[in-house]
Amino acid sequence: MIAEVIVDLALNQTDKPFDYAIPKALESVVERGLRVVVPFGPRKLIGFIIALKATTDVEKIKPIDSIVDDSPVLTEELLKMGKWLARQTLCYEISAYQAMLPAAMKANYKKIIHVKDDKKLKTQFSELAFLFSTDKGVEWARLQKEHPECLKAIKTAIQADVLIEKQQVDQKQAIKTVKVMEPLYTGEELAKQFNLLGGQAKKQYAVVKYFIDHEISAALPLTELMATCQVSRATLQSLIEKKLFRSYDKEVYRDPFKQVSQPTSPLQLTEEQQRTLDPILQDVNEKRHRVHLVHGVTGSGKTEIYLQSIQQVLEQGKEAIVLVPEISLTPQMVERFRGRFGGEVAVLHSGLNRGEKHDEWRKIHRGEVRVVVGARSAVFAPFKNLGIIIIDEEHETSYKQEESPRYHAREVAIFRGEFHHCPVILGSATPSLESYARAQKGVYQLATLSERVNQKPMPPVTIVDMREELREGNRSMFSRELMEKLQERLDRGEQSVLFLNRRGYSTFIMCRDCGHVVTCPHCDISLTFHRKQNKVKCHYCGYEEVAPTLCPSCGSEHIRFFGSGTQKVEEALTTLLPEARVIRMDVDTTRKKGAHEQFLRAFGRGEADILLGTQMIAKGLDFEKVTLVGVLAADAMLHLPDFRSTEKTFQLLTQVGGRAGRHKLDGEVVIQSYMPDHYAVTLASEHDYLQFYQKEMFSRKRHNYPPFYYLSLVTVTHESFAKASDVATKIVSLLKRELSNQAILLGPVAPPIARIKDRYRCQCMIKYKNEPQLNRVLKEVLDHYQHAFSKEGLSITVDIDPYILM
Ligand code: ADP
Ligand code: ZN
Ligand code: ZN
Repeated sequence: MIAEVIVDLALNQTDKPFDYAIPKALESVVERGLRVVVPFGPRKLIGFIIALKATTDVEKIKPIDSIVDDSPVLTEELLKMGKWLARQTLCYEISAYQAMLPAAMKANYKKIIHVKDDKKLKTQFSELAFLFSTDKGVEWARLQKEHPECLKAIKTAIQADVLIEKQQVDQKQAIKTVKVMEPLYTGEELAKQFNLLGGQAKKQYAVVKYFIDHEISAALPLTELMATCQVSRATLQSLIEKKLFRSYDKEVYRDPFKQVSQPTSPLQLTEEQQRTLDPILQDVNEKRHRVHLVHGVTGSGKTEIYLQSIQQVLEQGKEAIVLVPEISLTPQMVERFRGRFGGEVAVLHSGLNRGEKHDEWRKIHRGEVRVVVGARSAVFAPFKNLGIIIIDEEHETSYKQEESPRYHAREVAIFRGEFHHCPVILGSATPSLESYARAQKGVYQLATLSERVNQKPMPPVTIVDMREELREGNRSMFSRELMEKLQERLDRGEQSVLFLNRRGYSTFIMCRDCGHVVTCPHCDISLTFHRKQNKVKCHYCGYEEVAPTLCPSCGSEHIRFFGSGTQKVEEALTTLLPEARVIRMDVDTTRKKGAHEQFLRAFGRGEADILLGTQMIAKGLDFEKVTLVGVLAADAMLHLPDFRSTEKTFQLLTQVGGRAGRHKLDGEVVIQSYMPDHYAVTLASEHDYLQFYQKEMFSRKRHNYPPFYYLSLVTVTHESFAKASDVATKIVSLLKRELSNQAILLGPVAPPIARIKDRYRCQCMIKYKNEPQLNRVLKEVLDHYQHAFSKEGLSITVDIDPYILM
């Protein structure tokens, strides 16, 4: 038998299956989707078996070394999807498979140095001989750490063929185990055996008695026994040595849920909710794949609809995937699913460490849970009998992965929905234009929930014109109106949320005399000021220097810090409202694991009056006493060179507004803006999605952007601008020849950020409606330039349906 194996090397030359012989001993266990270790050239690599066959054309084939897992990690469906992803996103097949598995399963390769010529080692490199006293070889990483002075000689010895380096696969996975002991006899028999062996030791008897009294025949952790029976490890060890118990390492899961959730039961649905749920249940029952777009204002009870659809799916013995954007995967959100489905729920998000993620993945793989709630990559959960896939906040751009494979979770979900004949639910208060347009055309089923469950009206929104404030002499970042309202809340003991849109509003340094902006010497972008360390840093390459006190260009002292980070806002707040207790949440304050959760809990308990934060507080928060939401710089994002910036601004303002007055107390929203007449601002303040949709569609149509056209983006980078631009020009002319004359080709152009890490960037954008040849041509482009990637330092990335245009 022969196995076709895709090896773990993301290269053009290895982007195809290689044939390996299956040793007799492994014949009964090999399966498609299994990971194996195979010899590849001089080294060993991990690979995936993607096919089995009887014969091969290859003359000399090597055998598979060993198998990694005891059961396939990729299902038939995931294997099929890997090929599809490779075609759709132009990635290597191996990259697609790797994206589907938890990071902990990525193979580690160790470089081991072995002796090749012992005699020469002892004569010519006698100073190294002491390192290689065993024939096992020595790990390169260890040599680097412990004997750095020998590295040079080792390299010379390798070149002289005296030493040789080999690669070894480290299969050790992050599986947690505990030492347990299990009785080999039970009840009377255990007592009898103990007595036969003398039966004197009091301490040992305590343990034996514990097992007998509690009629335990299962294995118990040693540490637990030591505590409950008040005995030492040595006592337990004696019992094991006496062969009354056996001990072994038992696999356990780490528990990422620190708290037990309160069970909840299904709520009586409103008419709107029922009308939305019915067609979904129909699809579940009839095993039909359709995509449902649930457009429901915040608080309209979308989550309850998700919960009840999942319940139906579980009753039919099937499984469910729920995708939630990373930042709204809050403990509150997870609680709602755990509260309804308890132990059936696995959670996958970036707050878990590698091991925890691996554990959650294994629960899914083994069928121990049937619901997964997770961020983007949870869409690959290895379920075999999916009954529904739900994508909450479907408009979030974080559903697009920004590295290879550049997939969009929505497309993957639809692939899986078709495969399993099950519905896919997209939910949002502000659907993406792409999805809403598809729903309008009848490609997706549209359901609209226009009212909040509790009949509360959407909160009133006031827009404050910040230009007016400035004209009237208010130079602070808070308008007088917002200040007054904050004070009111303080007086009444209510809470406020202040939201700072940080994107596009970074803290750069500019000279007021000559206009000089401090920029990164390696990237064409301004440096960000970090007050704590008094440094300026580049967010693209990590370059940093001490913040200047004099203008590097004209020597003026009037060099000042522009923009407002959350830290600056916090300082201003404490000056203006000294009695206010403020919690600041941004990337800096929430870096520590669990910090995010702690802050929210503290705010929920009323330990602060004001919650100040960035994007991360825009979603999912639900606090009873919040009656005021303030947005400090509503339009900061509107200036970004991205055709989606208007849509993103509208979505964000709508989301933020939804945070106020969700409960008994009425709430209101204040939006501060320098562009108070922009339709993204005004229509968000009126909670008018439909009108926004129409206006924005009109603009997209006029500029030939999605959803009227598809987009693809080719980015060429090189140290030399001439080279990057030359290659980009060639790609454009090739595309011109190969594509239809309906395709619109823009470029080559230098993008808004023309240089990153000393590499110049050149882009070419393709706008098209129907180009069946496009992926083939782009693949040929990548293949053609492959040789130049490592040799000439060229890099080309292709992004089909890009979300980052800079
Ligand atoms: P959305 O996800 O659309 O923002 P939620 O599902 O969070 O809305 O619902 C808002 C609030 O209304 C939640 O506290 C939820 O428990 C409650 N809720 C949802 N549906 C019902 C219902 N049918 N009856 C009573 N309360 C409901
Ligand atoms: Zn830089
Ligand atoms: Zn200057």
